[in-house]
Amino acid sequence: PPVAIVCVGMAGSGKTTFMQRINSYLYSTKEAPYVINLDPAVRTVPFDSNIDIRDSVNYKEVMKQYNLGPNGGILTSLNLFATKIDQILELLEKRTGVTGYGSKQEAPAEPTPEQRRIQHILVDTPGQIEVFVWSASGDILLSSLASTFPTVIAYIIDTPRTASTSTFMSNMLYACSILYKTRLPMILVFNKTDVRDAEFAKEWMTDFEAFQAALKEEQEQGTFGSTEGSEAGGYAQGSSGYMGSLLNSMSLVFEEFYRHLSVVGVSSMTGQGVEDFFEAVAQKAEEFERDYKPELQNQH
Ligand code: GDP
Ligand code: MG
Repeated sequence: PPVAIVCVGMAGSGKTTFMQRINSYLYSTKEAPYVINLDPAVRTVPFDSNIDIRDSVNYKEVMKQYNLGPNGGILTSLNLFATKIDQILELLEKRTGVTGYGSKQEAPAEPTPEQRRIQHILVDTPGQIEVFVWSASGDILLSSLASTFPTVIAYIIDTPRTASTSTFMSNMLYACSILYKTRLPMILVFNKTDVRDAEFAKEWMTDFEAFQAALKEEQEQGTFGSTEGSEAGGYAQGSSGYMGSLLNSMSLVFEEFYRHLSVVGVSSMTGQGVEDFFEAVAQKAEEFERDYKPELQNQH
């Protein structure tokens, strides 16, 4: 069956650009993926999508009609869209010949060659990560997908903005919370490697002593905590150094968490690393069938 790849990440991390890149990569290998845009607020989508949330809800109208701000507008649009999940699944099932757990469709005949041609379902999500990951509708959309297809989360990270130990660790904390929230296999995609190579991140994730050495260096150079727009920087590096010791301990605790992740460095701009990404997808899809699916079915 096709693998669903759901791209999540902080606003500006490059989800949409990444989607565009992996989409055109698949086309270059003669594969046409099935593409879904779930961002109601995006102005232009730089790839052809089969399903676009903007076709069924008008985010600007929703804001006006319910007197909402941008975040409320996105959330409400997503909620409205989630009420149509049955139709979406039906469409997906027809296109792929795969019927899911608890599907209303008839038991599957063998997928036709036409249906079998779709090997990936790509899903883009709203810029504001919390709207998707921490909402009931995001939950519904994700678990519906995962009840039908092997589903993996691609957590997109803005590598140049994650180069200090404290922003790196905040990002890992967020990734960790998403992993436990969604209970789906996850690939960390360190994006924008054309600006900043991701080797440092890979090293920090495999060798906690390297992370601790980087932390020590930042503290000695007085750059520790001085991240863009971070107000915590000032007092966190003060005499008590509680941030430093917190990060130190977290690097130990997170060793186990890191073991469950695949990590790839990618540039959505140049296309570097995209093949590595799809290798990771194949591996995680296998893991999904073996480890995650039985657990998901137990929850039903
Ligand atoms: P989204 O909010 O996560 O969907 O992020 P976008 O895809 O809209 O990208 C945000 C900004 O990052 C845009 O200005 C992109 O051009 C830029 N960007 C995305 N990927 C890359 C990359 O690999 N390299 C560089 N240099 N910039 C990128
Ligand atoms: Mg986007």
